[in-house]
Amino acid sequence: MTGTAQPTGRCYCGCGREIGYGRYFAAGHDKTAEAAFLAIHHQASVAQMLHAHGYGPDDTKSVTKAAVDKGLWEECPFGCGYRGARESINNHITRRHQEK
Ligand SMILES: [Zn+2]
Ligand SMILES: [Zn+2]
Repeated sequence: MTGTAQPTGRCYCGCGREIGYGRYFAAGHDKTAEAAFLAIHHQASVAQMLHAHGYGPDDTKSVTKAAVDKGLWEECPFGCGYRGARESINNHITRRHQEK
């Protein structure tokens, strides 16, 4: 396998369903595929998956910190320790740090 997955018009979970152009999954099937993958490879455990890739509870092994370090995620500018994708950060700030 090389390159990145390309949408083909059929659901990537392998159910055979035809889906709209440019999509990878029928609604909700990404979660189904993810659960099956975890069951096969990581004892159905996200913790086992993270451990297998070298991530863990230590700050030096934090997967969310790694995402920030790679420039994919951001850290909450209010310094509360929250990390997430830009849209998640924006939602988080609105919910947690802005007075009504
Ligand atoms: Zn499917
Ligand atoms: Zn915050």
